[in-house]
Amino acid sequence: MNDQIFIYVLYVLPLAVPLVLFLIKRSRREKVAEETWHEALESGLTEPASLHPVFDPNLCLGSGGCFVACPEQAIGLIDGKGVLVSPALCIGHGACATSCPVGAIQLVFGTEKRGVDIPQLTPDFETNVPGIFIAGELGGMGLIRKAAEQGRQAMDSIKKRGRGKTPHDVVIIGAGPAGISATLAAKQHGLRYVTVEQEETFGGTTLHFPRGKIVMTAPMKLPIFGKVNVRETTKEVLMKIWEDVVSKTEIKINFGERMEKIEHHDDTFTVVTNRGRYPTRSVLLSIGRRGTPRKLGVPGEEHKKVVYRLVDPEQYRGKRVLVVGGGDAALEAAVSISEEPGTTVTLSYRSNAFSRVKPKNRLLTEQASTSGRLSVLFESTVREIKPDNVVLDQKGNKIDLPNDAVIVCAGGILPTPLLQEIGIEIRTRHGTSSFDQKALASKLPPPRP
Ligand SMILES: Cc1cc2nc3c(=O)[nH]c(=O)nc-3n(C[C@H](O)[C@H](O)[C@H](O)COP(=O)(O)OP(=O)(O)OC[C@H]3O[C@@H](n4cnc5c(N)ncnc54)[C@H](O)[C@@H]3O)c2cc1C
Ligand code: SF4
Repeated sequence: MNDQIFIYVLYVLPLAVPLVLFLIKRSRREKVAEETWHEALESGLTEPASLHPVFDPNLCLGSGGCFVACPEQAIGLIDGKGVLVSPALCIGHGACATSCPVGAIQLVFGTEKRGVDIPQLTPDFETNVPGIFIAGELGGMGLIRKAAEQGRQAMDSIKKRGRGKTPHDVVIIGAGPAGISATLAAKQHGLRYVTVEQEETFGGTTLHFPRGKIVMTAPMKLPIFGKVNVRETTKEVLMKIWEDVVSKTEIKINFGERMEKIEHHDDTFTVVTNRGRYPTRSVLLSIGRRGTPRKLGVPGEEHKKVVYRLVDPEQYRGKRVLVVGGGDAALEAAVSISEEPGTTVTLSYRSNAFSRVKPKNRLLTEQASTSGRLSVLFESTVREIKPDNVVLDQKGNKIDLPNDAVIVCAGGILPTPLLQEIGIEIRTRHGTSSFDQKALASKLPPPRP
């Protein structure tokens, strides 16, 4: 008997302890994953924005490689299988697919419910409209390095088209990673270029990453500037890199200039912006997929104090701020500014409740409102924006608020209609993979009873 106990202690226990610890850890992880999935279901955030993974439960061994590899915490393990539990967090860079040892992950665009519009491009990045090119995320490639690489390659193709009789060889629209890299290549090739960017600075989507966000990328080679040797970094370091690139290479970007229309003549184009008209031989669309922020269309909206995205809550310290909107972006902006010292924050929303927002944001907004840091005006609309105040209407009552800054988070006008107007062919992708669709569907946990 003693011998048996001795053997048990010597051989079985050292194996059993790590196994039990592993099972406890796994069960906790699965609980968190299920909770996250249910939160996504309850807030209606089950549709990924663009490229995202689908998991084949028949192949998945539950190694957890994807879970560890995903820097956005979009993946969880449920019943020992990988699941995209926070679809809205997925940015589609595919680290999960690369990490899977058995190839159980495929990256796809769109889902059965929500299609994603992808323009059809040639290997030279040209659309079906000869002379109009697309680079970066608009073409479906959601990665900083790939967008920059495509911007350079598209400009190489544009150079091959040669010069025309128009005053410009190319108009580049958008100054995110793709547009910056394309502008550098245009300068390197000696092309007569104009780059227009609707925002007041460059960086595109990277400018709007949350403060301190960890950015996963890979070394990239930018024309004129050379190699940018960066892998894992922060939003701030990345923005500093763009700053260095733009100032050292002296590329010219017209900020605050939004492309509104592209007119097609025989084999040339005129790009029409809010500031002017640019006749050109070629056009490069590097406008990403976020679109143009939706405006309120009220008098005074042109004041400099009106912006359409929150970049840094700190800049509003000591200020009286109006946030307009009822989605996650509006709630996050209002709450984070209300946490800054000396702020007076009002959140105006035209409906009578926040629907389709993350439960966490709803809770934080309620807490900020209860503690008096934030005042929420439901069923209200902005009527006029003046230099030192804003006029709102709430159920027929006029409200006049002293104001230093307005942040409008009313969504964006997506680029698809604009592309269609130009005649660019688009295919709507519905997330089909070569995996067994029935097996995929059966693996998602059902809603909470
Ligand atoms: C939350 C989040 C996290 C991410 N994290 C990572 C990461 O860690 N690593 C990674 O590699 N990628 C990441 N990405 C993806 C990456 O940011 C994008 O793939 C990349 O920015 C795409 O570059 P782009 O130049 O194609 O488009 P964008 O960066 O979107 O730039 C497009 C530019 O065009 C401008 N524009 C649009 N319309 C007009 C118009 N009509 N007139 C003038 N200008 C216009 C916009 O203002 C914008 O500046 C992330 C994305 C998100 C949303
Ligand atoms: S594609 Fe990237 S963000 Fe999306 S789940 Fe995979 S690793 Fe996470």
